[in-house]
Amino acid sequence: MATKRDLAEYHRKRDFARTREPKGNDSAGPRREGKGDGAFVVQLHEASTTHFDFRLEADGVLKSWAVPKGVSRDPGDKRLAVPTEDHPLEYGAFEGVIADGEYGAGTVMVWDTGDYRNLSKHRGEQVPLAEALDRGHAAFWLDGDKLRGGYALTRLRDGAWLLVKERDKHASSTGSPPHPHRMRSALTRRTLAQIAADEDAER
Ligand code: MN
Repeated sequence: MATKRDLAEYHRKRDFARTREPKGNDSAGPRREGKGDGAFVVQLHEASTTHFDFRLEADGVLKSWAVPKGVSRDPGDKRLAVPTEDHPLEYGAFEGVIADGEYGAGTVMVWDTGDYRNLSKHRGEQVPLAEALDRGHAAFWLDGDKLRGGYALTRLRDGAWLLVKERDKHASSTGSPPHPHRMRSALTRRTLAQIAADEDAER
């Protein structure tokens, strides 16, 4: 399968002299020990509004959505997911502070990451994730530190998507998530404040 890696929009939005986000010029990012079909990452991003960014590896990039309320374990929650530009695979390990004045200025934490298994079907046949996304409906199983189980992404008529937990043993409708300021990185256990302080100390 031809791999298209179109990061033009990603590059257009960023000044790499000013941000420490990865350029994504390497042919491949750090792949996790793959039991599944690719990597997923959920980044907590304290920008002009605090939100989460959900990313799935497909076609050699991280397909990306901004999820204002984060990823829920409750199948009753239909979480709005607004598509954003493809990100390089290396972005899945990015934590740090995007400088003031830059696109997405603010602190980024890897809230969760792991592998996913593609469960997408069309007319009863399994289809690659990229094709499923093109068709507007993808199903996948997440194996993260925090998120586990089946999820589905469905495109709406207006181009936004819904990200919904499937009903399985990992579904839960109890408990509310902690405040974002109390959340910790799946990679480094740091809070947003600690990530920002560490970056200040490096300057
Ligand atoms: Mn973001």
